[in-house]
Amino acid sequence: MSLQTNANIFINNRSMNPKGKYNLTSIEKMKRGSPEWLEFVNWQEKRIRERLSRYNSIKIAKEQLDERKDLTPYQRYKIESVSKFLFEAIERIKNGSYGYCKYCGIEITVERLFLVPAALQCVACDNTK
Ligand SMILES: [Zn+2]
Repeated sequence: MSLQTNANIFINNRSMNPKGKYNLTSIEKMKRGSPEWLEFVNWQEKRIRERLSRYNSIKIAKEQLDERKDLTPYQRYKIESVSKFLFEAIERIKNGSYGYCKYCGIEITVERLFLVPAALQCVACDNTK
């Protein structure tokens, strides 16, 4: 399945795109930095924060469930690394560098941002890092 197909499935999912407001064509036409783009980025930030709160509650739930043992190193690593990367995406929204690859600086495609709202790098850099 192509990335484009995945993105279309995603944006047709009403719970993720409640008002059916966004579609790839409308997003692709947005000029980065325009009011429409900033609104889209705000929406992405909400999605990233939802993920972050989900990860934090998983961590809390695991800690409460298992009083004798702490999280396994892998679980801890996973929760911490994902949270760190979500926080980094929020930082990039705040400093205006969201949507640009942190390694090579090119624009991250809209399809990719749809599928991975907290994407920090372009596909090419993702494949080499
Ligand atoms: Zn890159």
